[in-house]
Amino acid sequence: MRLTVLGSAASYPDAGRACAGHLVTADGARVLMDCGNGVLANLGRVTDPTTLDAVFITHGHTDHFADLYALQAALRYAPAGALPPLPLYLPAGLFDRIASVLSVRGAQELAEAFEVRPLKEGEPVRVGGLCVTPRRVDHVDPTYALVAESDDLRLVYTSDTAYGAAALETARGAQVLLAEATLPPAYAGRAAHMTPAEAGDLAREADAGTLVLTHLWPTVDRAAAAREAGERFGGRVIVADELETIDIDR
Ligand SMILES: [Zn+2]
Ligand SMILES: [Zn+2]
Repeated sequence: MRLTVLGSAASYPDAGRACAGHLVTADGARVLMDCGNGVLANLGRVTDPTTLDAVFITHGHTDHFADLYALQAALRYAPAGALPPLPLYLPAGLFDRIASVLSVRGAQELAEAFEVRPLKEGEPVRVGGLCVTPRRVDHVDPTYALVAESDDLRLVYTSDTAYGAAALETARGAQVLLAEATLPPAYAGRAAHMTPAEAGDLAREADAGTLVLTHLWPTVDRAAAAREAGERFGGRVIVADELETIDIDR
């Protein structure tokens, strides 16, 4: 299983960065986890966007879905003609909200581009050799973390979440814990997000193999974030960087 970082920024993209977006591949399956601002530009640098097998949107904040509009256009205007609808998993009701800003025709085109399927707590989705299980976490309601499994390998993407029992339950036993670390230390506890130190605590308590920090506000000091998370975790910490690939193995 391989993780490719397409967007590591939280809330708004910094220079050269994109908001939430992570490509996970295994056994030929290609799954996009979140599709925030700027993700499509980076996706196109590593693969043809029209070859995706499924897209998962974890919750209804724009930094996680804004580039769905762009992806729709890429699917519609593919060189060989409009592609069949791409499976799109997201919280129930969110697709209608996303479509609501478009004209009637635009909403219709968006609906034609995707095969919309609701995420359901704990209900696994099979995409080729990948199994993706959504788990509710503590952020805007509803928000789903995603547990991706292939063979014995387990990648857990926390999506956006506060530190706590729901995130810990989801993160347990991950070879790679892709954890949000949105907040600078001074903001700890002021929003339903984690600081890098809390992400480190989560990784330690979950007995994760490698901790990958993502979804950092552009104002977060990335070197300090790695240090703070590492002090709490005691294991390998990577700060996600656009287009970086991380192979998940034992
Ligand atoms: Zn976010
Ligand atoms: Zn959010």
